[in-house]
Amino acid sequence: MNIDDIKKVAIIGCGTMGNGITQVFASTGYEVELIDIKQEFLDRAITVITKSLDRMIKKEKITEDDKKAALSRIHTSTDLTSAKDTQLVIEAVTEDLDLKLDIFKKLDDICGSDVYFASNTSSLPITQLAASTKRPDMFIGMHFMNPVPMMKLIELIRGIATSDETYALIEELSKKLGKTPVLVNDFPGFIANRILIPMINEAIFAHMEGVGTIEAIDSVMKLGMAHPMGPFTLADFIGLDVCLAVLEVLHSGLGDPKYRPCPLLKKMVQAGYLGRKTGRGFYNYSK
Ligand code: NAD
Repeated sequence: MNIDDIKKVAIIGCGTMGNGITQVFASTGYEVELIDIKQEFLDRAITVITKSLDRMIKKEKITEDDKKAALSRIHTSTDLTSAKDTQLVIEAVTEDLDLKLDIFKKLDDICGSDVYFASNTSSLPITQLAASTKRPDMFIGMHFMNPVPMMKLIELIRGIATSDETYALIEELSKKLGKTPVLVNDFPGFIANRILIPMINEAIFAHMEGVGTIEAIDSVMKLGMAHPMGPFTLADFIGLDVCLAVLEVLHSGLGDPKYRPCPLLKKMVQAGYLGRKTGRGFYNYSK
């Protein structure tokens, strides 16, 4: 398949990532079939995308006509079979291996053998997801970063069977979307989370051991390392449950004790202090 043959994509899951990916594809001129389990989730996603496009108009990055055109290209559905007449399916559902395996199995029957499959998973093995389909050579990881419209990076993860042709096509597509693709081979955590999440874990250990306060550690990493956010601010933003889940994947997948999750992180998650989304993490957001 040639890049110009890709006209329509299906995006499965309209949460944080699915709606961002949808916005980027629709704004680049692609027809998008956005699929989730409930119409109210899809309606909410359209509202979120509309607000995001409005912010871009305010910043004079796009015009009112661009917004209208992008929104007109987005079609919503609660039926997975709507992915049928597309050239590429990107899965962005909840991070649950069994759920993703089940969806790809169904998509494999629904979509023609010429349709490419991608997963936006942060931590699950691309090789295993690909092996649940009859097209592992046409399967790739497209790991977008949050917030998708703002962040330039896409980690393109090659499963063991991903073909050169699939990689080249999706690399070209990523560039067309205005992103910078980076080649990653399929190992736990890929590149971003393999390096970022252990750094956050180390910051939590350092705090637990009394090396410094949360504020002190954040200040050191911001002012001394020029990180835009300190590790605790970033962990709260990502979600402490997500950080813990990624550490568990690194720990079990690589088998190295250096990835063991900090007991303080576990305790925070047990308490339901998950970060910004619950109003409390390492910082308090309730005010
Ligand atoms: P989210 O919880 O915001 O959204 C998940 C969506 O999947 C929900 O709308 C849910 O209704 C939908 N869903 C669940 N089961 C479904 C099904 N059977 N069919 C269709 N839709 C279904 O999650 P998210 O943060 O958008 O994450 C989605 C994926 O992206 C995960 O694999 C995650 O690891 C990955 N990811 C997340 C981030 C991030 O910062 N949030 C960054 C990169 C990658």
